[in-house]
Amino acid sequence: MNKRIGEVTLYWGTMFAGKTTRLIQDLKQAGEGAICFKPATDTRYSHNISKTHDGVEFPVITIKQASDIFLLLEPHITTIGIEEASLFYDDPTLIPTIITLRDMGYNVIITGIDRNLKDEPFCQMHKIAALADNCIKLRAKCVQCGRPASMNYFKGKDKSNLIGGADKWEPLCRSCYMERKS
Ligand SMILES: [Zn+2]
Repeated sequence: MNKRIGEVTLYWGTMFAGKTTRLIQDLKQAGEGAICFKPATDTRYSHNISKTHDGVEFPVITIKQASDIFLLLEPHITTIGIEEASLFYDDPTLIPTIITLRDMGYNVIITGIDRNLKDEPFCQMHKIAALADNCIKLRAKCVQCGRPASMNYFKGKDKSNLIGGADKWEPLCRSCYMERKS
């Protein structure tokens, strides 16, 4: 038997850049064989819906660590989405899980933020980028000047809780970001 190896695709970049939209497009294209996971630090396996800003939906299963995916695979699955992989932070099972799934023949499609608030690689995301067969950087528009954004600006008040959407974050180009910071 000719064992097929899967491919890893990464959509990464700023927030509001359309990463989830691209992920859901790919998963819908894979049809019945697609399943999607995302990290949750406080819940066990709860079933949710992932939704893009323009309202497209896809069911997503929240998991505590990346290797939980192996417990939830069913025989018809061909394509595995991992949404917000950056929020697995330093989960040591993340990279081995991606590699093992790929080598088992699954296509793995991943989204995540590229850099943290210190403008450094966000946890393990640069490692995923290096191993990905397809690595697509997506950029939102700078909310201030409309040029392509590179930075996520945190406008929330409580830095101990960074998780949020447009209520807490704005995509900015590097020039507008530096201006805002000063
Ligand atoms: Zn700008």
